[in-house]
Amino acid sequence: TKYILVSGGVVSGIGKGIIASSTGLLLKTTGLKVTAIKIDPYMNIDAGTMRPTEHGEVYVLNDGGEVDLDLGNYERYLDVTLSRDNNITTGKIYREVIEKERRGDYLGKTVQIIPHVTNAIQDWIDRVSKIPVDDTDEEPDVCIVELGGTVGDIESAPFVEAMRQFQFRVGHENFALIHVSLVPDMHGEQKTKPTQTTVHALRGLGLLPDLIACRLLSHEPLEIATREKISLFCHVAKEQVVGVHDLSSVYHVPLLLRSQGLIGYLQKRLNLTGLNISKPMI
Ligand code: ADP
Repeated sequence: TKYILVSGGVVSGIGKGIIASSTGLLLKTTGLKVTAIKIDPYMNIDAGTMRPTEHGEVYVLNDGGEVDLDLGNYERYLDVTLSRDNNITTGKIYREVIEKERRGDYLGKTVQIIPHVTNAIQDWIDRVSKIPVDDTDEEPDVCIVELGGTVGDIESAPFVEAMRQFQFRVGHENFALIHVSLVPDMHGEQKTKPTQTTVHALRGLGLLPDLIACRLLSHEPLEIATREKISLFCHVAKEQVVGVHDLSSVYHVPLLLRSQGLIGYLQKRLNLTGLNISKPMI
């Protein structure tokens, strides 16, 4: 399985879920089977007990799982059926680790965030990414892992560390990272400093972005000069910087990403063309 982690910086709620779903959809159009896991770094076991006015509507899956609305994006964009296990929360991971501890599974060891919680996260992703999600009943080729919240939060730290370890567990050619950042527009000037800061924080935690997706909260596309500046200051090639401005429909985001070479980049980075592709749609 190939893994694409989608993380976020600066602020949440800028369209990370849409970028993650769109990436999955683009890979699906090349004939790959795609699944998705959403990580929500909160202590609630699921979204069922959370106030909808604060977190948006609860999305209910076929198995009755009450989850974040992003899972609904994945089901619609990817035409798949997900289960409650496709939504990981801090609550679910801690519950699993504590239950194991009570059973004595850790054989007297001190149970710690590293390695026990971080291993539980990696094992969960490993297991769920291999579950068939469409009527072919075949193991997915690609798993999109969306990490909720922003990198640098205390809440998401165990997940960031788990993913840092995970890139070595699965190997460089099987793990890519898309970091979604905000590029604010100040009186017509696209500012790159928040992106520089968040990419710096990400690198400090041991995760290197393969793609930096710059979210612009306006109808203006990412300027060439802004892209060049982010490339220079964030130590990535220009082709690794993509812009996502406000569109009239979120269903246009896949086309915007495709026009910036996202498919070709990921195919090369993850060696996707070597996979046994059944029937490409384009
Ligand atoms: P996050 O996952 O970062 O919390 P979402 O993907 O849920 O954010 O998106 C937040 C909101 O922004 C949603 O209502 C979504 O429809 C909207 N949105 C996301 N991307 C775009 C875009 N490119 N143009 C217009 N609206 C967008």
